[in-house]
Amino acid sequence: MVDHAVAVSNATCALHIACLALDVGPGDVVWTSPVTFVASANCALYCNAAVDFVDIDPRTFNMSVELLKQKLKKAEAAGNLPSVVIPVHFGGQPCDMASIHALGQRYDFRIIEDASHAIGATYEESPIGRCEYSDIAVFSFHPVKIITTGEGGMTLTSDQMLAERMRRCRTHGFTHNREEMQPRPSDEIWNYQQISLGYNYRMTDIQAALGTSQLTRLDEFISRRNQIAQRYDDELQDLPVRVQQPFSKALSSYHLYPIRLNLGEIGKSQRQVYDAMRNAGILVNLHYIPVYLQPYYEALGFTRGYCPEAESYYREALTIPMYPAMTDDQQTLVIETLRKVLSN
Ligand SMILES: *Cc1c(COP(=O)(O)O)cnc(C)c1O
Repeated sequence: MVDHAVAVSNATCALHIACLALDVGPGDVVWTSPVTFVASANCALYCNAAVDFVDIDPRTFNMSVELLKQKLKKAEAAGNLPSVVIPVHFGGQPCDMASIHALGQRYDFRIIEDASHAIGATYEESPIGRCEYSDIAVFSFHPVKIITTGEGGMTLTSDQMLAERMRRCRTHGFTHNREEMQPRPSDEIWNYQQISLGYNYRMTDIQAALGTSQLTRLDEFISRRNQIAQRYDDELQDLPVRVQQPFSKALSSYHLYPIRLNLGEIGKSQRQVYDAMRNAGILVNLHYIPVYLQPYYEALGFTRGYCPEAESYYREALTIPMYPAMTDDQQTLVIETLRKVLSN
C-alpha cells in the first residue's frame, strides 16, 4: 500500500504536478530516458527547467543504470547535477529502482517513476506505485494503457507533504487547511484560500467510476498479458529478433511487446518489415522515436548521435500486437506472419 494517491485528468498533468511538488524550476535539470513518450521530458520544460537524457541499456530498453552512474560522475565534476531523475518503466518492464535510488542518495536527486506503462507490474515482489525507491510514481489511464478512465492519470506518494502540494496544484492552489491559511477577519467565511498557483487538473467522477471498475480487472489483464508475452518469448526464439530482457526480480505489466530486428540477418529494412506486417493486416507500431530527435527538441540544441543506444534501438525496433483480448489464433497469425516476413 502507498499512503497517498492524487487522481488527475491525465498522466501529463500528473508528471507536471509531480515536478512542481518537488520544486522543479528555472536552473534545475531533469534527466529522463530518451526512449519514452514526450510527456516524460516535457514536464520539466513546463516548469522552466532544463531536460537531459540518459541513454538506454540495449537489453532492457530502459535507462541504463551504468550510464546514469557515469553521467552523474561527470555532472558532479561540472557542477550540473540533476535535481530530479525520471526513470520510465518502458513497456511495463520495471527499471532497476534500488540501484537508481542508491544513486539518488549519493548524488542528492529526487525520483519520479514514469509508470504510465506499469500499473500492475511488480519490482522485488512489491507493486510499482508503492514508491519504496522513489518520491512519486505516475500512472496513465489513457485508452491505450493497461487500464483506462477514458483519459486520466494519478500520482502516488508516501510523503504527505508532497501529496498536499500535488492536491493544491491540481485544484487552483487552494488549501482547506486552517494552518496553511493567512489570518483573515472572522467575518470572512470562505473555507478555502488560494496560497499557490495551481491548475484545474481534476479527474471527473464519471472517469473515476470507470477507473474503479477497470481496477477490478487489473489482475486478469496483467496475467493475460504475461501469458501472451511468454508465448512470444518462446516462439520468437528462433527468429532473427531480440526481445526485451526483464530485470531479474521484476514482473512486467507488458503494456507493449517491443522487439529488435537483427537487420543484418533479415535482408530487409525496418520499414519494409513494418510495411509488410501492416499490409498483412498486423498493426505493428514503433515506440518511440528518441524524444530529443523530435524537431522541438532539436531546436533546443540536441543532435543526432546524442544517445547512440537509443538511436540504434529506434532503427531496429517494432512493437507487435499485445492486448489482453487477443485470442490464441490471433497471436498465431502474428507469429506466423512475422516468421514469413522475416524469412523471404
Ligand atoms: C501515455 C504516456 C504518458 C502520458 O499519459 P497521458 O495520460 O496520455 O497524459 C506519459 N508517459 C508515458 C511513458 C506514456 O506512455
